[in-house]
Amino acid sequence: MHYNGPIIRPQTDAFNSIFLEITVGCTHQGCKFCNFYDGYPFKMAPMEQIEADLQEIAEFAPHAKKIWASGGNPYALSVEKLAEIGQMIRRYVPDAQISTYAHINDFKQKSVEDIRYLKDVGYVDIVVGIESADDEVLSHMNKGYTQADIIREFTKLEEAGVSYRIIYLGGLAGAGKCEESAKRTAAVLNQFHPRMMILTTVAILPGTELYDELQQGIFIEPSELERIEEFRTLIENLNNRIIVFAETSTDMVSFTAYLPEEKESIVGQLNKVIDDFTEEDEQYFRAIRRSMKSV
Ligand code: SF4
Repeated sequence: MHYNGPIIRPQTDAFNSIFLEITVGCTHQGCKFCNFYDGYPFKMAPMEQIEADLQEIAEFAPHAKKIWASGGNPYALSVEKLAEIGQMIRRYVPDAQISTYAHINDFKQKSVEDIRYLKDVGYVDIVVGIESADDEVLSHMNKGYTQADIIREFTKLEEAGVSYRIIYLGGLAGAGKCEESAKRTAAVLNQFHPRMMILTTVAILPGTELYDELQQGIFIEPSELERIEEFRTLIENLNNRIIVFAETSTDMVSFTAYLPEEKESIVGQLNKVIDDFTEEDEQYFRAIRRSMKSV
């Protein structure tokens, strides 16, 4: 197998997928908190490489059920290119379905029919790291899209009938603003039906623009307690049927909850954590977060 850059994938997909490099890097490369693909400009993997990797997969795992199409946002490729790759995957591993990352802007040039067609050639599960649906946060973090863009593109995904998951990145609003950001995001998400929300919370990594803002006092980092309150408020305000997965390396309180059935129970448990949270807990979790060099 060929891997020419970091392999970033949701924790949920770490053990049940075969990683197939489709692209390297990300097309946006501008989010203030991100250093994932520093030094790896966006490019597509050569078709010969993809085919060679698929031959290897067909030899060792011919009945593989899931391919993680690897790269920052392979869904940025054209419909024609994605279809060609999807059909090639189907030729070599006919039982496999494809999951991959997309940036909101990757849907802009694709119609509902395009997205439906791509679903039919195998792209059945799209993971979109929206991080937040609060315009203030999106603009400050230079995400490259607005709340209105999220609403427009998620409407297309739902019309196309493709299953999608989202990533929420807590802490990005900064101290004192996280709960408001959670409420604004929940209000948007309540209009849609993502299958899962992966909850993560930001570690401010040396070398990023956000780290510089932190040093200059432009960005004030929220406390660990605030981050838990943010998750509590987000869940409290969500009305949809959704799986909330909060078991990533950045989550100091780890859980998976199936909403709406488990909403009351998880909100109650988080409230208990919040009530019992001590200054020692704050220092302990903060030290872990500060030690992170990548997430
Ligand atoms: S967070 Fe995602 S979209 Fe933003 S720069 Fe990093 S990989 Fe690209």
